[in-house]
Amino acid sequence: MMGLGLAIAAIAAYWVYNDAKGRGHDTGSAAMWAVGTFAFLIVCLPLYLIFGRKPNLRKRDEDAFDIEGCAVEELMHCSMCGGKVKIDFKACPYCGHTLKPKCEHCGRELEREWRICPYCQTPAPVK
Ligand SMILES: [Zn+2]
Ligand SMILES: [Zn+2]
Repeated sequence: MMGLGLAIAAIAAYWVYNDAKGRGHDTGSAAMWAVGTFAFLIVCLPLYLIFGRKPNLRKRDEDAFDIEGCAVEELMHCSMCGGKVKIDFKACPYCGHTLKPKCEHCGRELEREWRICPYCQTPAPVK
């Protein structure tokens, strides 16, 4: 009986890990959910299903693979939904979040690599 429980927990953990990765979790948090699921299946699996899954990435299969074809350094994660976006995207295709940083002081768009706002010299917001 114990062995069967472990097998189910392992399968669930494996599924959670892949599902979390596909939904834009990074490896660390996907692994965390997987470990939690393995150790506390009854508690963690429902928690994952409720809180861990990211509903904005429904169409993940095609989209994610498309974008995944790019060089790694051109990818970043949307700060709003965690979806994978290319570095030169102006907005997240998953949730519509505007990705270009804005100056906190004057509100103008800043290039990502700028350290300060060239318009008013306010330090650019740190990602
Ligand atoms: Zn997003
Ligand atoms: Zn400014």
